[in-house]
Amino acid sequence: MSAAHRIVVVGSVVLDTIHTPHGSAEECVGGSASYAALAASYHAPVHLVGIVGSDFPTEARELYAAHGIDVEGLEVVEGETFRWGGRYHADMNRRDTLFTHLNVFEHFHPKLPESYRDAEVVFLANIHPSLQMEVLDQVRNPRFVALDTMNLWIDIARDDLAAVLQKVDLLFLNDEEARQLSGETNLVAAVRALRAMGPKAVVVKKGEHGAVLFGHASTPYVQSTVLLDQVVDPTGAGDAFAGGFLGHVARVGNTEDVTLRAAMVHGTVLASYTTERFGIDRLAEIRESDISERSDVLRMLTAWPGH
Ligand code: AMP
Repeated sequence: MSAAHRIVVVGSVVLDTIHTPHGSAEECVGGSASYAALAASYHAPVHLVGIVGSDFPTEARELYAAHGIDVEGLEVVEGETFRWGGRYHADMNRRDTLFTHLNVFEHFHPKLPESYRDAEVVFLANIHPSLQMEVLDQVRNPRFVALDTMNLWIDIARDDLAAVLQKVDLLFLNDEEARQLSGETNLVAAVRALRAMGPKAVVVKKGEHGAVLFGHASTPYVQSTVLLDQVVDPTGAGDAFAGGFLGHVARVGNTEDVTLRAAMVHGTVLASYTTERFGIDRLAEIRESDISERSDVLRMLTAWPGH
């Protein structure tokens, strides 16, 4: 790949109601595509694909635009935007879904504007795998396709997921999903089974404990997180991780192992900022200098002292 590629991000755009041990937020802008698109926008041009209702706040569209995100593919239809509610436990790795009101999302079929179809990088954020496939049917010749998924689709749409995985270069999932999808308990065996399903590279997310990249090199790359003294809201951290990761890949313009390893750092940085405030608030306001400052912290955390 050559430099400065564009990323198509497809996923959910949602108004979230979130309760964590640190407070609550009502109807804040979220969804897998919002987090991923904003995170990626710090590194590369982003084209957003999704659907919202007529009640979706104009300020949110303006916020995407202010980040240079192309929203021509964000369809607006009469009706209510997708709403989701969740409550985190004291251990914020655990949460309960309070409600999922799909609303206009229920009849969503992604339609890519003509100008999106030649994008080099595609991120299929967490939505039904058959919709992810509809996106791939509309892009002409993507160089790098990444996919995120969730336990729900592994349970109820495994065949659709298997079909789309055959067309994917990189799979993001958490360790529990990796075991569930592969049927293997050992992580290395699980990743071997996942690669046999299609993706050449796999990133296993381990929440506050970081993430592991199984790339082209024979040795996996383990990335620690920045251990923050307070995580306010972990919602969307995984999506922001994927957005930051793919933004870096698009900016550099190749998928060599060294690029993917640096992408692990950028994913971790964007994910950590996301958790500092509710919803997309913190993610939307960071600056270049924040990104480089935290990348330096991560570099120091992983530096080998040499003895
Ligand atoms: P994460 O914390 O990475 O699981 O992502 C949370 C985001 O996913 C929230 O902003 C939700 O609105 C969104 N979400 C929740 N359920 C679904 C679903 N079934 N499909 C797509 N997005 C969802």
